[in-house]
Amino acid sequence: MQSIYNLTVKDLENYFTNIGEKKYKAIQLYEWLYQKKVRDFSLMTNLKKDIISKLKEDFTIKDIKLVTKTSDINTSKFLFNLDDDNKIEAVLMYHNYGNSLCISTQVGCNMGCSFCESGRLKKVRNLQPYEMVLQILKVEEITKQRVSHLVLMGIGEPFDNYKNVINLIDIINHPKGLALGSRHITISTCGIIPKIEEFSNYDKQVNLAISLHAPNDELRDKLMPINKVYPISKLIDTVKKYTVKTNRRVTFEYIMLKGVNDRVSMANQLSSLLKGINCYVNLIPYNETSHIEYKKSDINAILKFYDILKKNNINVTIRKEFGKDLKAACGQLRANYEEEL
Ligand code: SAH
Repeated sequence: MQSIYNLTVKDLENYFTNIGEKKYKAIQLYEWLYQKKVRDFSLMTNLKKDIISKLKEDFTIKDIKLVTKTSDINTSKFLFNLDDDNKIEAVLMYHNYGNSLCISTQVGCNMGCSFCESGRLKKVRNLQPYEMVLQILKVEEITKQRVSHLVLMGIGEPFDNYKNVINLIDIINHPKGLALGSRHITISTCGIIPKIEEFSNYDKQVNLAISLHAPNDELRDKLMPINKVYPISKLIDTVKKYTVKTNRRVTFEYIMLKGVNDRVSMANQLSSLLKGINCYVNLIPYNETSHIEYKKSDINAILKFYDILKKNNINVTIRKEFGKDLKAACGQLRANYEEEL
């Protein structure tokens, strides 16, 4: 039996039509699930008794379970247990513009980036839409705060779970769903070209971020194995087409790894690579982890890198550090939990 939180409004309209009911029941149900946040079909008082019994027969409405929550001044992290006992994590960051939640899209990850904790556990399976939706609903319930922004930057590669991720966005973006604005949603990918192309046909103004992390193939091959399949020149070409077709600005993420990708020559190389693209670069101080050797670049190296991009007319920002002390970097929480067991 599948979860009711897997269904888009369209899916539910088809469901109600198929059982001989009116389409608009889909919206009524959505209001119960996402606005009144009721997690029991029996309490949905404007639905007829026989519809409620049919829903109970056909769908589950179960929770995912919170294992641990830890917080510091601007970050809370959540470890959740799924029905099959797999664990995933979500991180909530309190910004001045709102609350941004970073959710996981897969159990484990197959991309194998050398600096990333998530990939130490190979992909076990994709998350279904409901497991992503419930990360948001649970965090809102636990913190009693509204999640205003969503980033798909937790464990997993969203474009390796494309269909479920698109369904998730359709569900949460719907005005009768969580009504999370598409401009407040960001998908981050390591650069799976066919999916970037497919995503350029998606009709919502969702933000796209590309994990670049290196300005040339030689280095990117070492950091991110996916580069051997989709090398930089092809990736940049695809992103360029994406920006032209969608008129959306793309973000390039660039984690700053001491002595690895933070040299002056690389800042220059990156500037020429991105010249003329509707984009900005987000320089991310590396969040060090005990299992991986890389170190965070010195602040002076980061500032120098920033200045060079600026001088070359590339839009650039330095990401504020969140959750450093909480082991909130991608996959760190799950990894630590497993270790303590
Ligand atoms: N698979 C997707 C999304 C998950 S990773 C992707 O590759 O984009 C989200 C972002 O966090 C990526 O840019 C990733 O490279 C980065 N990241 C991973 N480990 C990190 C760490 N320890 N410190 C800082 N950023 C990290």
